[in-house]
Amino acid sequence: MQLPENLKIGCESVLDLLLPRMCSGCGRPLARTEQFVCPRCLMQLDRDTEWDWQNNRRILLWREHKALQRMGAFAFFRRKSIAANMVHELKYHGQHNLGVWMGRLAATELRDSGLFDGVERLVPIPLTWRRRLHRGFNQAERIAAGMSQVLDIPVETGALRRLRNRESQTHFTLHQRVDNASNIFGLTKNAGQLAANKHVMLVDDVMTTGTTMLSAIQAMETLPGIRLSAFAWSWVHLPEILTIDTCRYRVNR
Ligand SMILES: [Zn+2]
Repeated sequence: MQLPENLKIGCESVLDLLLPRMCSGCGRPLARTEQFVCPRCLMQLDRDTEWDWQNNRRILLWREHKALQRMGAFAFFRRKSIAANMVHELKYHGQHNLGVWMGRLAATELRDSGLFDGVERLVPIPLTWRRRLHRGFNQAERIAAGMSQVLDIPVETGALRRLRNRESQTHFTLHQRVDNASNIFGLTKNAGQLAANKHVMLVDDVMTTGTTMLSAIQAMETLPGIRLSAFAWSWVHLPEILTIDTCRYRVNR
């Protein structure tokens, strides 16, 4: 039985009073018509507007990986920023529907940017089974699911698997960080059938140093005929983590 519209609105208003939904960006209560993020946060979200998918600094640093076609992000990730708060809500407060919404938002805004042109599969960066079990979902998978709804590109989760987590890197030297990120991922026995000779876009929620993404690229690029692109819902502005010279050192090592 369908509730009459005015009764439905009344019930939702009472629910909002009892259990107010909060903006994932600023924590203020949302109006009844708002979803996940208030209009102010949506407007102030620090988007990456360069849209230089083939020639941005990160892709130039990784140009030795010949399969790599494009790399981009939707927003900048800065400490306590709106984007960081949204990612935090998604990952640590179980808001898996927020992830789908975030994926839809990014894909809608970037749909005509050329970033997704010709992409045939979206491959979310996997978690280990243990972490996935603990969290209940993979945040990258939720973002990819939202992107898929807008872009009509299938999500493929059967090709890439995570062998281990990166240990916390805060006490590591630069050398140790690079070693810590190698061999994180492996291919499944069906990977060739699922992803060879296709243009695959790897999808993650956050890219900081990029070593996790690079490790996934290294695993996937062994498939014949594969073309790879990398997308992060948010990334750290590169000069804020490392100078360009140290990055080149990391990548070419
Ligand atoms: Zn807000």
